[in-house]
Amino acid sequence: MLSLRSVLLPYWFSKEKWGAWGLLLFLVGLLVIQTILKVVFIVYGGELTSALAAQDSERFWQSVGIFLGILVVGIPFASFSGYVREKLGLFWRNWLTHRYLDQYLSGIRFYQLRLYSVLDNPDQRIEEDIRVLSQESLRFFAIFLESGLQLIGFAGVLWNISKPLMAVLLVYSAVGSAIALFGFGRPLIGINAEQLKREADFRFDLARIRENTEAIALYRGEAREFSRSWQQFQQVLKNFSRLIRWQLGLNLFQNHYRYATFIIPGIILAPRVLAGNLEIGDVTQAGVAFNLMLQALALVVLQLQPLTNLGASVQRLTQLEQACREDRRVGTTLQSPREEPTKIQVQSGESLAISNLTLTTPDADKTLIRDLSLTLPVGKSLLIVGPSGAGKSSLLRAIAGLWQTGSGMITRPDSTAFLPQRPYLPPGTLRQQLSYPDLERPIEDAQLNKLIDELGLGHLLNMSTPMMASSQTEPAPEPDPRISSKLSLGEKQRLAFVRVYLKSVSCLILDEATSALDLDNEAKLYQSLKQSGITIISVGHRPSLRQYHDYELTLRTNGRWEHAQLR
Ligand code: ADP
Repeated sequence: MLSLRSVLLPYWFSKEKWGAWGLLLFLVGLLVIQTILKVVFIVYGGELTSALAAQDSERFWQSVGIFLGILVVGIPFASFSGYVREKLGLFWRNWLTHRYLDQYLSGIRFYQLRLYSVLDNPDQRIEEDIRVLSQESLRFFAIFLESGLQLIGFAGVLWNISKPLMAVLLVYSAVGSAIALFGFGRPLIGINAEQLKREADFRFDLARIRENTEAIALYRGEAREFSRSWQQFQQVLKNFSRLIRWQLGLNLFQNHYRYATFIIPGIILAPRVLAGNLEIGDVTQAGVAFNLMLQALALVVLQLQPLTNLGASVQRLTQLEQACREDRRVGTTLQSPREEPTKIQVQSGESLAISNLTLTTPDADKTLIRDLSLTLPVGKSLLIVGPSGAGKSSLLRAIAGLWQTGSGMITRPDSTAFLPQRPYLPPGTLRQQLSYPDLERPIEDAQLNKLIDELGLGHLLNMSTPMMASSQTEPAPEPDPRISSKLSLGEKQRLAFVRVYLKSVSCLILDEATSALDLDNEAKLYQSLKQSGITIISVGHRPSLRQYHDYELTLRTNGRWEHAQLR
């Protein structure tokens, strides 16, 4: 029910609903005409056989003429309905992808889904499962509609020829559908969903190797990576073996079911033909009608495999929808539902102030900071130090609003920027890098060149890569996804500072953001930050950092802390 409401239906009630319903109606029209022509075609097939058996040449050539006429009219309808269906599928996919991408990338949901391990492979769900859903459900809609129409078309034909055959057909299809649905359907949906997950895990593992090529190569970790990926792949195969075992069972059942139908009409109608009460063409007609009606009535039996694939995709999209909707404000809800969890409040204000902050890890396993209160006046600077694992970066995450597990209140200026140790460089030109996360915005050449020169990054301007695209006149070159791997960590860290200078920031939070710089460059950067009156909070180990800060917060293990004034 939830799948229907939250995954399958929303498009049909969205802003695009008129276009969608219009196209769907058009598709229905094409399918109706196509099916009527098919029914007529089969009826005349029987007529053709009967004419031959009766050695009636006029009746035969008349049937051939009608036959050819139907072919000429019918083929364009049959071809066009496929096109319209695919086109509608494309619009639906477009709408769904926008909706899910938007949900996934709104707020910090993508971060929280990963942090709390709520959901596996959201990327695959957005790419593959939406594609399967939009294409396959329309294909099934067309098949079900065609089958329903065929059922109506042929019911009359079969009823006229033999009522007992009709009764056999109904019982046979009902029994077959029940066995398929309950015996094979349920387990196959689960196995298909598991297969999708394992395939995605395997792909993710290979992508992880691609992302970390240098580190793996330096460690000479190929053998280890091979063994891990191979194990992942074995998991894929293991489930796949299970899947094909079930498919074998299903195929055995389907084939018995299908082949029995060739003989059933013959056996039931034979006595009447032998007694001379029925023309041979009627038997052909009845046979074809019986089979087509059975295909319609027992659609679930015959299409079970693709139906369970679709079911698995719908299930995975429903989970994504649920995960995006749920308020994951506090991770502890997942681990300890007994206690009503509290949440760290973050609000904006003039200066940075922390009051009664208690911070735990997202799994609520460890209390990193207990009851911390401090205020940092505007334009002043604070250095956070402490042993590794004490919670320094976690405190910054809490200030950024990423970690909310714990209690207390954090006030921070609106224009606060964060500089992580490893700056993120998305694919794009230098201007696009520097504008991130905003879209490319015009930056004066002179201003840009000055900043870049000051930070000793002049050589980037001459790089042969399309990093530097003129902002207004030339068309933007293709983004170069390798930029990230062409710069050293120190260069990336300096680029991240250019980003800060290009924005008006009143508070800057640095998590070992100068760790890869030489002392001279570090000094230059801190001095210029201080001159511009920015409030600074740094996390760092280097003793050289102390001289640029007014206060020091030392985090100890077990949540203890000390706060001191340095000057
Ligand atoms: P540091 O003081 O070195 O910056 P961190 O703030 O990064 O330390 O980490 C503090 C502690 O939180 C560490 O013990 C780390 O293992 C733990 N931690 C980090 N990330 C997570 C997470 N996603 N879930 C649970 N614990 C985490």
